[in-house]
Amino acid sequence: MPDTSCVVRISAYPETMNTHPHVIVVGAGILGASIAYHLVKAGAKVTVVDEGKPANRATHGSFGWINAHSPEDVGYFQFRLESIRRWHKLKAELPALPVRFGGTLNWEDPPEKIEAFQRALDEGGNPARLLSSDEIATLEPRLAEPPARAIEAALEGVADPAGIAEALLFAAIGKGAVLRTNARVEALTFDGKRVAGVEVPEGIIEGDAVVMTTGTATAALLADHGFTLPMDNAPGLLITTTPVPPLTERILTSLKLHVWQKDDGTLLVGEDFGGTDPSEGVDAICARVMERLQAFFSDLGPVEIAATSVMRRPMPADSYPALGQVPGLNGLWVAVTHSGVTLAPMIGESLAYEITSGKMVKALHPYRVHRFA
Ligand SMILES: Cc1cc2nc3c(=O)[nH]c(=O)nc-3n(C[C@H](O)[C@H](O)[C@H](O)COP(=O)(O)OP(=O)(O)OC[C@H]3O[C@@H](n4cnc5c(N)ncnc54)[C@H](O)[C@@H]3O)c2cc1C
Repeated sequence: MPDTSCVVRISAYPETMNTHPHVIVVGAGILGASIAYHLVKAGAKVTVVDEGKPANRATHGSFGWINAHSPEDVGYFQFRLESIRRWHKLKAELPALPVRFGGTLNWEDPPEKIEAFQRALDEGGNPARLLSSDEIATLEPRLAEPPARAIEAALEGVADPAGIAEALLFAAIGKGAVLRTNARVEALTFDGKRVAGVEVPEGIIEGDAVVMTTGTATAALLADHGFTLPMDNAPGLLITTTPVPPLTERILTSLKLHVWQKDDGTLLVGEDFGGTDPSEGVDAICARVMERLQAFFSDLGPVEIAATSVMRRPMPADSYPALGQVPGLNGLWVAVTHSGVTLAPMIGESLAYEITSGKMVKALHPYRVHRFA
């Protein structure tokens, strides 16, 4: 159960809502899957509806780094840290989840700043060590040029976001949830002023509550019903390579390259975990990234691009999550955010609790969608 130390009753929550409501989750990316999983655990009846197959958008094109790297923003840093702790809990609950906590080795900051950054991470609760060049070379012997110093953040991890979404949906279906794919939600339906379901091409699905986890499509869907959610969904390009022999267990984030190696030996690589804006040309970016990759590891050997992906990041305009019940649309909940991989357990568990209990989780207050009303 989330931190309920300060919960208040949701004013627009219907007195008639039972503790086993039928909740329709629109969008089967990592957020929809996490919310569905936690809703089923909390006793709700759940139908997940997606216009395609699960995890076909941002979740498919994500770097998957589970991190808390913004200590200057204390509240958001703690929110992310709490989610990382819940990732560890979720992995213990579902051991087959494709998530790995190998830690991050980070040297993006210039040498004069790196020590202060490490201290801020560590004192904020994200255990971080400052390593010397020799220590880095011992930990990561395949780095061609170990940096003078780097920060190791051992709590952090990396997920296969699409695999996670599928696994959480599978677990939810095992507990009674229903998944409807290739069913595009065209509109919401209402009972008086209350949202009472969704309209798909085959007809209407009725429910006690609807949760919109539609990523970059969320602003347009809300606008159809009179709510303006400003979003700034920038695209990001990432590369998956052909498999190479084992190189590293960690997420390596330098100023020029972010990379991790999947269990199948392929590397997921970009100039930044959020990917590069592809407007300068995919070929030019790919050539630059692959050149940097060859210089990054010693004796990397033959490696090619197996796939590239360009996806837009769902990003509310102020860059913080937009969560909770939508003002003026009682019964409609929303969860849209960048860093949805990092935040999936925290958001899933908290919103499921709110929907089934009628109480608000204090930790979500700074990120409520209300702020855009
Ligand atoms: C390049 C890139 C790198 C990233 N790196 C990281 C990272 O390292 N760490 C991190 O934490 N986050 C990262 N992110 C962000 C993270 O991937 C997203 O925040 C997360 O995937 C969002 O998940 P979601 O479930 O909200 O949305 P999505 O995965 O976009 O899912 C939305 C779903 O809604 C469905 N849908 C849309 N409209 C409708 C409709 N009308 N009817 C029915 N279904 C509909 C879509 O089909 C889709 O399946 C990255 C994102 C990108 C693009």
